[in-house]
Amino acid sequence: MEHSDALYARARAVIAGGVSSDARRLPGTPLYVDHASGSRLWDVDGNSYIDYVLGQGPAILGHSPAALADAVAAQMRRGVTYSAQHLTEIEVAERLQSMVPCAELVRFNSVGSEAAHAALRLARGHTGRPKVVKFEGHYHGWFDPVLFSVHPPLDQAGPAERPVLVPGSGGQLPEQAADLVLAPWNDLEAFTAAIAQHRGEIAAVVMEPVLCNSGAITPDDAYLAAVRQICDDEGILLIFDEVITGFRVAPGGAQERLRITPDIGVFGKAMAGGMQVSALAGKAEVMESIVSGKVSHAGTFNSHPVAMAGARAVLEILDEKRDDIYPEMERLGRRLMDGMSGIAARLGVPMLVQGTGHLFQTYLTDAPDVRNYREFAAAGRPAMARLHGLLLDEGINMVPRGLWFLSAAHTDDDVDATLVAFENALSRM
Ligand code: PLP
Repeated sequence: MEHSDALYARARAVIAGGVSSDARRLPGTPLYVDHASGSRLWDVDGNSYIDYVLGQGPAILGHSPAALADAVAAQMRRGVTYSAQHLTEIEVAERLQSMVPCAELVRFNSVGSEAAHAALRLARGHTGRPKVVKFEGHYHGWFDPVLFSVHPPLDQAGPAERPVLVPGSGGQLPEQAADLVLAPWNDLEAFTAAIAQHRGEIAAVVMEPVLCNSGAITPDDAYLAAVRQICDDEGILLIFDEVITGFRVAPGGAQERLRITPDIGVFGKAMAGGMQVSALAGKAEVMESIVSGKVSHAGTFNSHPVAMAGARAVLEILDEKRDDIYPEMERLGRRLMDGMSGIAARLGVPMLVQGTGHLFQTYLTDAPDVRNYREFAAAGRPAMARLHGLLLDEGINMVPRGLWFLSAAHTDDDVDATLVAFENALSRM
């Protein structure tokens, strides 16, 4: 990988660690992409990859779909940024309102971390309460108040049923955890106990409704319904962080698929097919705290015209072709999931595959099921990292922890080629 290695050496002299996000750190030379189109990436050494990372999820129509490229190019000539109101933001907001159950009113930001931050401020400002319940293994962006116990080392994380908050980075202050209440996810008893312990102090419960940062786990139906009910009973706002699941697991996100409507939803990634847009979407009664100015929300680039033009084009396709796109993505994902399970069984390699098809997680483990962070952490993560390297050699790019994203650009031919490559890689483990 002559050109990639040379670029990595050059990068390390000017970019801290050689990469621009810690999520892109790899044991060796990271992927240096030359260009991407449809379901494929090409690196600077001329290798091509079937891509299941899709920019960590956003490229739901595949890379550089014509509708997105045209919309962005056209808007560039009408002005890149105004920091003023425009028609496109209204059209995108209207589309969100019609697609997403909780989206009675919306506000836009640029990235998921910002919108998640805004959601917690809104919940605290609206309820006048300080605390937020967060779940172990869930990620809500890289900002200090939420970067706790995402992937904590197990020797620091405390007992499974009463986990302790572990900062995700040097530089976070212990007091930033003071108003977080940590609970194990998908465990109703532990959740009920946490609520009872802090009764009257909790503004919000925030979760990834399908956990995608520690596996690809759909919660038990009864659990989610009970959490919704307890939040209602206790005057607590339920926040779904749908930065990954939004516009991916269903047109209206996990809240549509799981039929539980939160008070606030946070969206990003797939919403604009790869352009930088995020959204805070909530019930009108809650968003009233922004309407009235009680809770502040701002940003120079909010409703950025170019990004909004991208979002409008992508959402129009996702909405209007929903009956084709979502079942097909799920069908192809399930073909991969079943195919991989079959290959592993044939090779005698213990493997578990979980997910909705639109996204899924592979584990090299003999565990029959993974239901929460602790089980995810125990399920063969070093082996998965090894498989990631072997798959890259075979021209397949998955998220290193074993997560796979599908797009509307993937085809049966991609699935066939991926399964051949998967068998080759797995037999070399
Ligand atoms: N929330 C979830 C569930 C995410 O997966 C991510 C990013 O991966 C974020 C929030 C943060 O989004 P961003 O990286 O755009 O700031």
